[in-house]
Amino acid sequence: MKIIIIGAGPGGYETALLAAKRGVEVVLVEAGPVGGTCLNEGCIPTKSFCKNAEVLDGLKEAAEFGVTDLSYAFDFKSVVQRKNAVVEQLRGGVEGLLAHKNITLVRGKASFKDSHTIVVTSVTNTASDNSGSNAEMISVSSEILSSTEYTADYIIIATGSVSASLPIPGADLPGILTSREILDIQEVPQRLCVIGGGVIGLEFASVFRSFGSEVTVLEYCKDILPRFDTDLAKRLKQSLGKRGIEINTQAQVTSIVMDGESFNVNFTRKGKEETVSADKVLMAVGRRANVNSLNLADAGVEFTPRGVVVNETMQTNVPHIYAIGDVNGQMMLAHAATFQGIVALDHIMGVENNIDLNVMPAAVFTSPEAASVGKTEDECKDAGIPVKCLKSFFRANGKAVTMGETDGFCKIVVAAEPKEGTESPYEAGRILGCHLYGPHSSDIIQEACALISRKSTVEDFQSIIHTHPTLTEVLQNAVHS
Ligand code: NAD
Repeated sequence: MKIIIIGAGPGGYETALLAAKRGVEVVLVEAGPVGGTCLNEGCIPTKSFCKNAEVLDGLKEAAEFGVTDLSYAFDFKSVVQRKNAVVEQLRGGVEGLLAHKNITLVRGKASFKDSHTIVVTSVTNTASDNSGSNAEMISVSSEILSSTEYTADYIIIATGSVSASLPIPGADLPGILTSREILDIQEVPQRLCVIGGGVIGLEFASVFRSFGSEVTVLEYCKDILPRFDTDLAKRLKQSLGKRGIEINTQAQVTSIVMDGESFNVNFTRKGKEETVSADKVLMAVGRRANVNSLNLADAGVEFTPRGVVVNETMQTNVPHIYAIGDVNGQMMLAHAATFQGIVALDHIMGVENNIDLNVMPAAVFTSPEAASVGKTEDECKDAGIPVKCLKSFFRANGKAVTMGETDGFCKIVVAAEPKEGTESPYEAGRILGCHLYGPHSSDIIQEACALISRKSTVEDFQSIIHTHPTLTEVLQNAVHS
C-alpha cells in the first residue's frame, strides 16, 4: 500500500511514522521545515518563551523565598536565540525519525492534478561556473522550478492553517504582527496591544507581561476564551488582570492607524469609541484552514471556508482522500491532528481503535495555566443534560501553598439524576467534563481526560489514591466536596 501525506506537521509526520512502522510506503510532502506550525512557530517556540517568563516571574518573587539583593538584567535577544535553539534541536529529532526507509520526504508544494495524483513543485538553487574567456571565475546561481508527479492509493491532507486577519482598515499595515512574526521581534515592546482574547492572544499577553510590556487585550466576545467554561474564563480574566494585563471584552476593533512609530487601535465598546496606543500590535483572531494552493477542486474534494469537510474517520467525500488537523477546521490543536491521523490511518488499514476524538484536552499556557476537557456546564445545560458541578480551589491544596501558587480553581462537571419523568443519556455520577486554572493545569488535566475517556464515575475516581502532597489532589478535593 502507498500513501501520500501532504504536510509534515504533528498530523502529517506522526501519521507518516506510524504508517511507515506498519510497513506502508509513504511519500511525505512538505513545503517548509518539518514539524509544521506546532514545532516551528506555534506550541514549541511559545512554550520556550513561557519558560523565560516563568524564570523572570520567579526572580521577581525571589525575596519571598529568602533570596535577596538579586541583581539581574533581561536580555531578550538571548530569549529569542534560546527559542531558536530549542526549535532546531527538536526539528533535527523529527528529521532523524523521518529518515525511515519506508518514508520518502519530498520538499516542495503539492497540488492535486486529479484525485490520485499530486504535482509537487520545488525550487532548486543551482550554482554554475561561468569561466568564459576571463581569467576570473564568475559564479552564477539560478533558481529552477521543477515539477514531479506522485500517485498513491490513499492521500492524507495535513496542510494545517494560517493566521486569520480582520477586514478592517489598517489590518495589513507593516508592523502588525501575527503569532509567527512576534516570535522574532528584536526587543520587548513597551506597550503591546493584542487583538483577540483567545488562546494565542492570551498566551502572548501573559508572556510579554512577564517580559515587562504593558499589555492590553481587546476581545470581541463577552468573555475571553469563548469556547471554554465561562466560570473558568471569568476567573482567569481576573487573575490576568491582577498581573496587570488590561482585558477589554465586548470590544470590536474598527481600525488601526499609524501614529509615528506606534499604532492607535480603535475599537467600540457598548456604543462608545475608544483607542489603545501601542508600539506593537498582535493580531490573534483565529486561524483558517490552509487549502489555497491544493487545487482541491480538481480532486473533487469538498471544502468550505472552515476547511476540508470530513466524516468521523477523517475521510473526505472522495473515499481515498482524508484530511487531518487544522485543515479540516474541527479542532485546531496539535494533539488533535496527531490523533486524527491515527484514526484516518486505522480506517485506511481496517484497524480498530478506541480513540474518542470528542474527549479532547486543551490547555492555555498563560500564567497561571488553564486547561479543559469534556463538556462544559453551559454545553450540558443547552443540551438539557442534568449535571452538578464539583469545585475545589488551589488555595486549599497543600502543594500549591508550598509553591506560593494558590491562584486557581477546579470544576468537575458530573451527570446528575434526571428529574422525575425526564431522561439523561448519562448514568448519574459519570464525569463529563473538567475545567481548571492554576499551576500545572496543563499536566493535571490529563488525569481527568483519562477518566472521562474511559467513562468513569465520581465513585470510581474517589477510590483512586493520589500521592500527597501533589497538585493533582485538587481533583480529589473536588470529587470529595
Ligand atoms: P481563537 O479562536 O482561540 O481566538 C480568537 C479570538 O479572537 C476569539 O476570542 C474571538 O472572539 C476574538 N476575535 C475575533 N474577532 C475579533 C475582533 N474583531 N475584535 C476582537 N476580538 C476578536 O483563535 P487563536 O487564539 O488565534 O488560536 C487559533 C487556533 O490555534 C485555535 O483553535 C487555538 O485553539 C489553537 N491554538 C491552541 C493553542 C494551545 O492549545 N495552547 C495555542 C495556540 C493556538
